[in-house]
Order: sequence, then structure tokens, then C-alpha cells
Amino acid sequence: MRAVTVNPGVRDSLRLVDDYPEPHAEEGAILVEALAVGICGTDHEIVEGAYGEAPPGASALVLGHESLGRVLEDPSGILHPGDLVVGIVRHPDPVPCANCAVGEWDMCRNGEYTEHGIKGLPGFARDRWRVQPRFAVGLDPVLAPVGMLLEPTSVVAKAWDHIERIGARAEWQPQTALVTGAGPIGLLAALLATQRGFAVHVLDRAETGPKPDLVRALGATYHTGPVSELDLVPDVVVECTGAPSVVLDAMCKAGPTGIVCLTGVSSGGRPLDFDAGALNRELVLENNVVFGSVNANRRHWDLAATALARADQSWLDALITRRVPVAEYAQAYTPTGDDIKVVLDFTR
Ligand SMILES: [Zn+2]
Ligand SMILES: [Zn+2]
Repeated sequence: MRAVTVNPGVRDSLRLVDDYPEPHAEEGAILVEALAVGICGTDHEIVEGAYGEAPPGASALVLGHESLGRVLEDPSGILHPGDLVVGIVRHPDPVPCANCAVGEWDMCRNGEYTEHGIKGLPGFARDRWRVQPRFAVGLDPVLAPVGMLLEPTSVVAKAWDHIERIGARAEWQPQTALVTGAGPIGLLAALLATQRGFAVHVLDRAETGPKPDLVRALGATYHTGPVSELDLVPDVVVECTGAPSVVLDAMCKAGPTGIVCLTGVSSGGRPLDFDAGALNRELVLENNVVFGSVNANRRHWDLAATALARADQSWLDALITRRVPVAEYAQAYTPTGDDIKVVLDFTR
């Protein structure tokens, strides 16, 4: 069968192979036919040789962590042939740490977790894959065109879950949310903010392309320019750029009792000159919280599935700016300027 592979650490090793072995029964009882995988910055880093780890004993890693497939067989009876299904990316570490031991693999403390298509487990960019029932998320049939958005949605479902848990430390009646960055994560974070009834503001560099209209279609306000010049006091900031100056501005922008959730991964190595004392003063005197958030556990995947099913399906569809047949896989992994989400289509 077909699979898109790389040799981690080796540039230009991206390949479409057509003799990849069928998924081994050990991978899980549920056999799935791939419909699509979404592509993101993590995939680009792996393709560039900067990230990624093949399974033990293998030199190649199958890409693809943003999955969508259709069940071919599920002897456990939880799902049924024809059901839409997504595979959870991260598996708990084998030790396990205290968090993985209770299913909170998103909070793994020892870093020995594995991830499909990223770290030690084959990804979902292959014609067929298998999944254990506890790592399989069934989707509403309405999500057939867009279900590969579940993985990035799980990331923001976790971010919002933790924002709300932090907010519950005291009386909290938040009204205004600011999202920095209008890529897939930022737009999906804004979607979940509107579902929670926030007045939502999204800031991005793009002045043209689909982003401004996508934000307005949510009933949110689109901004360009520096965060510091925005005329609003957000109760929640979800930072999705990882750009150092935006991150700092976002931390300073939150209002009293504000919560700032950082989701963007910066590359580091570009020191900024900034006033740490002034930031500390703001955070202390306003009871602010700044926290980082990554990945998602089973509960967040289920929350994300509900959030996607509730959303305007045509809006979700518009996030997918290119659908590339598997045979043209190299184009799918070559970013272009107006891309929001690029999807590799296994049905063509
Ligand atoms: Zn991704
Ligand atoms: Zn762990």
C-alpha cells in the first residue's frame, strides 16, 4: 500500500512508497481506510530534517499526525464499518509517569511518550492504519470533508479547558478574548472562543488572503498591527504565533485577572531586549496567569469532536485551502503564501 515517508534527520528524504507493509495487528483492533491527513508546521520541520524520530529499528517514519479515516473493521464493536474515525496522536510513555498513568499523556513529565507520524510511531499518511479503541475518536458523519481538523482542534480544546480551570480559581466573568495568529490553530481557538460567547478579536500580519474574511465570518474582529496598539483589554489571550515580540506583547496585554495561554513554539536563539521587571509587576499586581499548553488527552479530543460538529461546516471547509491527491504529495508538503490548512487526499 502507499505511504508517505521520511528518514528523520535527513533533508530531501520525503518519499511516496507503494510497497509499505499492511498495518500490523499489534497496532490495534480497528482497521481504518485513510481518507486524508492534514499537514502543519511540525510536518514541515520533519521534512526539513529538523525533527522527528523513526520507530525503533526503522530508518523511515511514515508522516501524518492529523488523521481522518473510515472504519473497515472493528471487532470490539465500539465503532462500525463506514464510521468516520480519527487516531489520537500521542501515546502514554511506558514507565509511565504520574500523568500518563491516569491518561494525561498531554502532560507527560518524562518526555518518553510516542507520537504517530512524529516520534517513534508510524503516522497516518498511508492507505490503511490500525488503532486501539482507546485511541480512536469516532466523528459525526457530517464531518467527512473536514474531520482531519480534529487534531488541531484538540490542541485548542485543551487550551480552553485549561484556561477555564485556571479561571475557576476565583470569581471570573470573562468577556473579551484576543487570539494572536490566524493560522489553523488561531482560527480554531477563535471558533471555540465564539462558541463560549466571548467577544473575539484576532490579530495577524495578513492584510489580504482568506484570513480576514474567515475571522469576520465568525462574528469576530480582525486586526493587523502591533498587539500593544489594540484598543481593548482582553480577559483571555491565546497566543498562536510563537513570534517572540508578539508573545511578549500578548503577556503584557491581558487585563486584570487575565489569563494568557501560549501555544506557539518559538525556535529561540533571537534574544529580545525587554523590561522583565515591568512585566513581573503587571503579572503580580493584576493576578495574571501566563501558561504554556501543548497536545491533548482523550477528554480534549472528545470535546474537540463536539465543537467541530457544532461549527458551521462551510466555515471549517474554507480553512482547507488546498486538497492535494496523494500522487502529488510533494506539492502538499511545499508551503505557499496563502495556505491555511493543506490536506493530503487519500481518496484520489
Ligand atoms: Zn499538526
Ligand atoms: Zn508520561
